[in-house]
This record gives sequence, structure tokens and C-alpha cells, in this order.
Amino acid sequence: MQPLDIQQIGDELAIKWADGSESFISLEKLRRRCPCAGCQGERDVLGHLYKGPEQPLTPAAFQLRSLNRIGTYALQPVWGDGHATGIYSFDYLRREAANA
Ligand SMILES: [Zn+2]
Repeated sequence: MQPLDIQQIGDELAIKWADGSESFISLEKLRRRCPCAGCQGERDVLGHLYKGPEQPLTPAAFQLRSLNRIGTYALQPVWGDGHATGIYSFDYLRREAANA
């Protein structure tokens, strides 16, 4: 599913999908669910989870500086604290918005 339009409205991201439905996700939730390895950790072949040290998130962490589109399948937000390694697929965004 492709988004037709993506906008920041207040502290939410509003996504209008090709089927006419809309998703709203708070920026705070989006940042806390950042799918990058640094935030979520990485599993080795035995299933052990390795995570970097827990980093306190500042208010800037929940502010969107910019939003890059990755090809036709994902978004890469640049957060106010400079964090930009999370790549959110459209499927992931739709799922996250659905269980808000
Ligand atoms: Zn991250």
C-alpha cells in the first residue's frame, strides 16, 4: 500500500493511503518504536539480543526535523536529536497506526 500524502499535523504524522484510508501516529510513539538496530537491538544466530546502552530521549528526540522517502516502500525520519537510522516501511507504519 502506497501513501498518497504524508503530513505532520501537530505532534502526529498523518498518512493518507492509496485506498483513501488515513493513519495517524504520534511522533513520540513513532520514535519509541524506531526499528533501527541501535534502538531495538540485534539478534545473533543463537537468538541472543544485543542492545546498546539505553539512551534517555530528550524532548528534541520526538520532534521531526525532516522526512525522507526511501524508494517506494519506506520512510526515514530525521529526528530533532539527529537520530536518523530508523527506516519505517509503509507496512510497519500501517500496522503501528492500527494498534495505536
Ligand atoms: Zn533508532
